[in-house]
Amino acid sequence: MTDNVHSFDALVVGAGAGGLFAAARLQHAGYRTLVVERLDKVGGRASTDDIEGFKVNNGAIVIETGGITEQTFAEVGAEFDIRSPQPPILYRLGGKDVDVSTGGWGFLLGKLTRQAAKIVKGIGSARNDSGLPGDEMTTAEWVAKYTNNESVHGIFRNMCGSVFAVGSEDLPARVFLTYFTRKSAFKKFGFAPQGTIGIWESLAAAFERDGGQLWLNSTVTKLTVSNGIVTGATVERDGNHVEIACRIAVSDIGPAATVNVVGEENLPTEYLDQVRRGDRPTSMITVNFASRDKLISAPGMLSFANTKRLCYVANFSELCPEMAPAGWNLYVGTAVPQPSTGDFDEDVETQILLDELRSEIAGFDTARVLSINVTRDGWPPQRAVSGFDLPNATPIGNLWNVGDGVKEYANGGTTACAETAQIVVEQIKELFPLGAAATSS
Ligand SMILES: Cc1cc2nc3c(=O)[nH]c(=O)nc-3n(C[C@H](O)[C@H](O)[C@H](O)COP(=O)(O)OP(=O)(O)OC[C@H]3O[C@@H](n4cnc5c(N)ncnc54)[C@H](O)[C@@H]3O)c2cc1C
Repeated sequence: MTDNVHSFDALVVGAGAGGLFAAARLQHAGYRTLVVERLDKVGGRASTDDIEGFKVNNGAIVIETGGITEQTFAEVGAEFDIRSPQPPILYRLGGKDVDVSTGGWGFLLGKLTRQAAKIVKGIGSARNDSGLPGDEMTTAEWVAKYTNNESVHGIFRNMCGSVFAVGSEDLPARVFLTYFTRKSAFKKFGFAPQGTIGIWESLAAAFERDGGQLWLNSTVTKLTVSNGIVTGATVERDGNHVEIACRIAVSDIGPAATVNVVGEENLPTEYLDQVRRGDRPTSMITVNFASRDKLISAPGMLSFANTKRLCYVANFSELCPEMAPAGWNLYVGTAVPQPSTGDFDEDVETQILLDELRSEIAGFDTARVLSINVTRDGWPPQRAVSGFDLPNATPIGNLWNVGDGVKEYANGGTTACAETAQIVVEQIKELFPLGAAATSS
């Protein structure tokens, strides 16, 4: 059955971080915007499930503060409820959990190798473009120029995993060094007390308060292309096919899935090839666990030098007791498998993570495991390895992608999603100014 035609200035496909950032900005700027989300809740790969009273995140756990994310919330008038641990992260070095927040790289690496000063100098020289290595050198190769110390390699590997969801052997050193010398460098972040979904519910509320429409449990099955531009979409909603008309479309479902809803016949071969090559999702494995006893002393994140897979354990309960029933502590341990892109043995890799949790976290054996999630392929921790992202613009002049498949160089996660949304909405405002873009409904 086909419903009446609904008409909007902008259609946003997907209510993940990228989609909601874009929608909130568009609606706040006056574009009448519809967000269509196939699931029954917002947040996509940065959302939260209720498991026996525990608020268990299905993806992103830390949210950057003080950057483009917080700025977007402020601009659209949405509450940004993030609690930041102090210190944000401890590193387990030689059996001790060490705060390196004031001593920085020199202090951290100095605990592990006599080559620390040289590595710090190498990082420092990356502040100038001439000090950055070429694209082909991996972070692991860059570290190997200075040392073969396994703990130093472990620290770099786990940082690549924590920020970019790939191992150091898969991340260009140029990306790593650019991020840690010129970008936010994983310094200021926190947890959302209702689980990460809390901040997307707040952003969605601001969007709806401004007059935007959010359709959950609704799937865009087709973007209609006519004379080379998107004119609307078919949405499956409550068992009905609903036709949407729009002047602008923003897709948050990743470039490859966007090609599917647009139809290959509407896109040039070079672009299709580019999307095929760029479709390189990464993988992660997470173990969500809880305990009545406190299992780690770090108030936020704990990272490791001597693990092969376990990148970090996050402690939610110190700052966000609401995430667990009274008397319980909630944690997550996360690993990047090997290889971190392409195929890997899920059982073997999960077992390595569980073994490392057992040896690093005293009491893990008696903890309650709430869920073990392998995120990969269509539900990856990053749709593209940082440094290999596709452009946000498409060959269709009124269709853009946002999200972590089209990140700006050397960015990652929800921060990158906020950045893509800002860039795309600025382009929309320039190319489709409001008066010209407005449709009559
Ligand atoms: C285990 C793990 C840990 C992570 N940790 C962090 C972290 O600590 N900090 C951080 O910042 N980032 C982290 N990330 C990365 C972060 O979660 C992602 O970068 C971000 O959530 C991606 O958002 P997105 O908007 O690009 O896409 P998505 O979240 O995938 O959003 C796309 C949405 O579109 C919907 N959709 C798909 N197809 C359709 C359709 N046809 N019609 C309608 N809707 C559709 C989907 O249901 C989804 O809700 C982590 C990810 C994982 C998996």
